[in-house]
Amino acid sequence: MSAVYGIFGWPVAHSRSPAMHNAAFRALAIDAVYVPFAVPPAQLPGAIEAVRALGVAGLNVTLPHKSAVMPLLDELAPAARAIAAVNTIVRKGERLIGDNTDAEGLARSLLEAGVDLQGLEAVVLGAGGAARAATFGLAAGGAKRITVAARRRAAAEALAAELAPHCPGAELAACDFGAPLERACAGCGLLVQATSATLGESAAARAFADALPLHSLPRSAVVCDLVYKPLQTALLARASERGLRTVDGLGMLLHQGALAFEHWTGQRPPIGVMRAAL
Ligand code: NDP
Repeated sequence: MSAVYGIFGWPVAHSRSPAMHNAAFRALAIDAVYVPFAVPPAQLPGAIEAVRALGVAGLNVTLPHKSAVMPLLDELAPAARAIAAVNTIVRKGERLIGDNTDAEGLARSLLEAGVDLQGLEAVVLGAGGAARAATFGLAAGGAKRITVAARRRAAAEALAAELAPHCPGAELAACDFGAPLERACAGCGLLVQATSATLGESAAARAFADALPLHSLPRSAVVCDLVYKPLQTALLARASERGLRTVDGLGMLLHQGALAFEHWTGQRPPIGVMRAAL
């Protein structure tokens, strides 16, 4: 009998995870299928009960359920607790364990691109879920100082304060856009764009990128945009024009999925196959 995996989201039709995971199952001849489940927010508790009743083998969770699902599970892994969001559910017998592979997915994607996080100073733009995962991932990967910059300074400060106890090896700071961001960029080796402002090809996305102080980054700095639609965002285009190294958001998407696959199956994920499917 085929094992059933899937993703809960609302909407979920746009998700690339089914293509990625089904390709991986095929490549390793695992008898399993990965299905997108469109779950309205009010139905989430019932859907998790169905997972238990039907013996669904593992799940991904995407917007808007990443936080709401937490109290419905039996246990949370440290990354999920720190980031306060679950993107992966692993089944251990009758127990459902919530984990978060976004943070390590980003760290692996940067490592793959040749970015050494150890002792690095970084700036993270944004104070939403992606910024939270990115900040935790950079700290867990060895970054020594991370400045969280958001258009609402209070949101950046709250994120840094909440994550600080989970990031003992890193100094977390917060600022808003403008002069403080320019100063933070001057000393940093990595800028991670984790807002949704660079989504799409709009004039607003270009204006957002144009307003960022890329000129103050050291020439050796790397610019990473977590947004992957488009793959070459206005920010990455500007960074490339300035001769800075860039990393797109597809690597994080790939590696968060690869880590989930590893947690579910205990097998080494076929990274090349999964990347091609994406
Ligand atoms: P959230 O909605 O949780 O947060 C969005 C953040 O962007 C908020 O801090 C928001 O600020 C800020 N923001 C939005 N527009 C602007 C703007 N014009 N100027 C400045 N700040 C702005 O979204 P997520 O954090 O979940 O996701 C952010 C993006 O990251 C998504 O668009 C997605 O494409 C990408 N992502 C990529 C992943 C990957 O695997 N590569 C994984 C997850 C996300 P405010 O609160 O003030 O509105």
